[in-house]
Amino acid sequence: MKPRKIIAGNWKMNNTRAQTRELIENIIPKAENAACEVVICVPFTDLETAVNLTHTGNIRVAAQNCHFEKSGAFTGEISVDMLKEIGAEYVVIGHSERRQYFGETDVTVNKKVVAALESGLSVIVCVGETLDEREQGITREVVARQVKIALIGVKSLENTVIAYEPVWAIGTGKTATDDQANEVCAFIRETVKDIYGESAASGLTIQYGGSMNAKNAAGLLAQPDINGGLIGGASLKAEDFGVIIAACTL
Ligand code: PEP
Repeated sequence: MKPRKIIAGNWKMNNTRAQTRELIENIIPKAENAACEVVICVPFTDLETAVNLTHTGNIRVAAQNCHFEKSGAFTGEISVDMLKEIGAEYVVIGHSERRQYFGETDVTVNKKVVAALESGLSVIVCVGETLDEREQGITREVVARQVKIALIGVKSLENTVIAYEPVWAIGTGKTATDDQANEVCAFIRETVKDIYGESAASGLTIQYGGSMNAKNAAGLLAQPDINGGLIGGASLKAEDFGVIIAACTL
């Protein structure tokens, strides 16, 4: 089975409700005839607006984080059932900014992945090495560890997407070369194959993320093991996001 191609825009902590409305209205025509699935990963406060504006089109809505407990004394957190109820279909888990600034660990990533999948959400699990780890030559060890721990207890990969996001490329304007990005994505597929077998691995959507933009998207998305992108900065501009969506062919 061939993987679904998915272009996802990670808005991070950007866009009020009014800005969300305007950006989505501009993205809708770009996504209309897309060959890939289009996902927008919006702040919690924009979820309802995003769901209402996209429910008839082919744009899916994602949250950028969740908690792994069902409910309780976890001030400031949002449960997977709350996300389901509001109409989100995906949740991004383990983004490097959450690992870096908010104490996310491989273990909490795993708990969130399990909770989200159990609730019926799809997950985009982010993995990737820091510059220091790349320079030490341990990219594969780091990525394999992140992938394996994230997937503990996950029986089927049907609703799982993995995003390879080298930390040194996120928001820095430094993109991995087509070959560098494809090499690690292929390695992730091999790692998954060892656990889930050939058919699950070959059907898994693996995205690249890290300063993907309107200029470099076509080269990255043409790589055999890259099945889409997770895009930060460039997803905030409908024109650029539209070019990236158009570059994601079957
Ligand atoms: C991201 O936020 O996941 C990301 C890849 O950001 P950027 O495209 O801005 O590097």
